[in-house]
Parts: sequence; structure tokens; C-alpha cells
Amino acid sequence: ASTWADVPQGPPVSRKLSRQTGFKEKINLGVGAYRDDQGKPYVLPSVRSAENKVIEQKLNKEYAGITGVPDFTKAAAVLAYGEGSSALDRVVITQSISGTGALRIGGAFLQRFFPGAKKIYIPTPSWANHAAVFKDSGLEVEKYRYYNKDTIGLDFEGMVADIKGAPKGSAFLLHACAHNPTGVDPTPEQWREISDAVKAGGHYAFFDMAYQGFASGNTDTDAYALRYFVEQGHNPCLAQSFAKNMGLYGERVGAFSVVCADAAEKKRVDSQIKILVRPLYSNPPVHGARIASEILNDPALNKQWLGEVKGMADRIITMRALLKKELENLGSKHDWSHITSQIGMFAYTGLTPEQMDKLAKEHSVYATKDGRISVAGITSGNVKRLAAAIHAVKP
Ligand code: PMP
Repeated sequence: ASTWADVPQGPPVSRKLSRQTGFKEKINLGVGAYRDDQGKPYVLPSVRSAENKVIEQKLNKEYAGITGVPDFTKAAAVLAYGEGSSALDRVVITQSISGTGALRIGGAFLQRFFPGAKKIYIPTPSWANHAAVFKDSGLEVEKYRYYNKDTIGLDFEGMVADIKGAPKGSAFLLHACAHNPTGVDPTPEQWREISDAVKAGGHYAFFDMAYQGFASGNTDTDAYALRYFVEQGHNPCLAQSFAKNMGLYGERVGAFSVVCADAAEKKRVDSQIKILVRPLYSNPPVHGARIASEILNDPALNKQWLGEVKGMADRIITMRALLKKELENLGSKHDWSHITSQIGMFAYTGLTPEQMDKLAKEHSVYATKDGRISVAGITSGNVKRLAAAIHAVKP
């Protein structure tokens, strides 16, 4: 028999999209990537310029060090923690294969060194890959309450109760902003209470920040939770992605960082991160990191980029408002205010799997069965038809 004769067929890896039958002009709201108002993939002009600058330098293709391109990681830490942050001189940071790779390194680091239970609490629901990444890192995965389907909003009491109720010294994964898949974020006041609850439990905070700047349009506003935790004396770790905010999806640019207590701890943690990364992939790819580094370190390009991030966030915010308005214009009696109160790439519509099926079959509107739509797939050209389709399946 073949060596692999007993390998069983696995389920499809990606999120379950409704089946595409396609008799009308399709509206694809399944993709987790930004689209412009023509529905096309968007390469940021600042990225084009930065890439040209990189190419003009005719750099060699030698290996980066284990932790990547130092100019990139240094600037990535400043972007996340903020200029002048007390964390900057005691943070260990390594480049990673985008946000997923950062989470994977973090999972492996916790598995090897976290002093508490080798377990991480993630929100219900969470990005579908979180549980898989952490399980493959050898951690147990548990859930904390997050989303309340009755209010289509945050289950704040449930969340805080679960944090307080967890065994002392547990690890919690927190979405820093633009929670995926719900688009529901805690308010600044709620973050302060969450910080208190994490502190009261002696817990550890692991932030996943895949959308810095993409939520509000401002990279500082979106880093509020992370920076507040640091101010409050937490020493969190962080997974960063530049897939969304720089549109560098396929370049796989990210970083994993650990805020340490002091310089001595930083030195020890840094040594272990290198020991951990080396057998995983030796060292990360350089091209995307060089592009990101140009954007972060060149003041003019940086300013341009911040404007372009805001442009993407604003288009998404505008599409949310338009969709809500079109639904109201159609006379929908439902409360659609969650569409505009949610933030980031995704909206949790509150539509049922049956209604999502109908959207696909009868209206060629495709998204995930959980009712999540990618707002980035909405354009001024298709929003009217989308509203009509939603109104038809949920009159
Ligand atoms: N975390 C969250 C919450 C995400 O939504 C994503 C992207 N879908 C990621 C991490 C990682 O994405 P990437 O590996 O492309 O940076």
C-alpha cells in the first residue's frame, strides 16, 4: 500500500462561503481583503513608491538575521507602542510571516515558557484561524464570552466575568481593534475595565493587532487598548500584521513582540525567541519588510501612507453608512445601527445561515454563513442592490 494510504480527507481549510450559483451580477462579500470603489484590489501608492525606492537601491539578496530587517522591526514597535512609550527600550521584537506567523511564534513561546497553564483564552467568536494556530502551537484553547447575538454587540458583562472567573495567571488573546469577525470593539472605558479585570486575575494579555489604522483611520486611536495596558503596568505580547494597513497581504510582513520587565529579561527573552524561530524557518523574507521599512522610516512616505490608510478606513465607514441608509430608504423596520457602530473590515449583519443562503441563491450575494460580510466588498455601484437583497431576505 502507499505510504499515505491512510491519510484521511480533511475538511476545506477556508471559511465556508455560500455556494456560488451566479445568475445575477455577483456581489462577493467573502474576501478578507480591501477593495477599492470599483471592487478592485488596491496597491497603496505609498507602497508603489516605497517598492521603487527599494528596487533603485539595488540591495543584495543576502539572508536577514533571524529576527528580520532591524529598521523595519524598530519602526514597527514604535508604530504599535507609540513614540516615547516606556515599552520601547524593553521590548523584544522579531519580524514574522505576517500576523499569522506572529501568532504562531507567540503560541510557541507561550507553550515553552508561559509559567501558568499552557492554555489561551480566545473570544467567542474569534478569527477562525486563532484556535488552529494555538492548538498547533501546543496550547489548549478555551473561549471567553464576547459577542451577544441578541444585541448584535459586545457581551461586556460576560467578557469581564469570564476574565475574572479564569484561574489566576491565565493567558488571554485580545483583538486590539476591528474585532474579526464581528466588527464589535470595546469602548475606551470598557478597555479600562478589561485591563483592571486582567490585572485583578494576575492574567497575561496577548494582543492581536491585525488592523492598526484600518478601524478608525488613525493608527494611534486603534492602538489605544495596547498602549493603555502598557501604561497600566501590563507587559503584554503582540502580533502585528501589515497585510491590511499597508495592503501587503501576499508579501507576508508582520512582527511579534514581547514587552519585558527590564533589560536583563529582554536579553533572555530575545535569546529564546531566536532559538525558537531558527528551526521554524531560519529567517524571514526581506522584500516586504524593506517596503514597510521605507514607509515607516521616510517621513514624507509615512505621511502619505497615513493618509492612504485613512482613505481606506473612510471608504469602509462611508459604505457602512450608505448600506444602512439604503436599507432605511427601502422601509426596513429592523434596527441596522450595528452596521455603523461596528468597525473595521467586517460587519456582523445578524442574518441567519438560512438568510445568508437565500442571499447567495436568489441574489448572488456571497459571504460567510455566520452573517459576516466584508464591508470592503461594498461599492457605491453595488450598495443599492445589496440593500435590496438584504431587505428581500429579511423583510
Ligand atoms: N488576526 C486577525 C484577527 C485577522 O483577521 C488576520 C487576517 N485575516 C490575521 C490575524 C492575520 O493575517 P495575516 O497573516 O495575513 O497577517
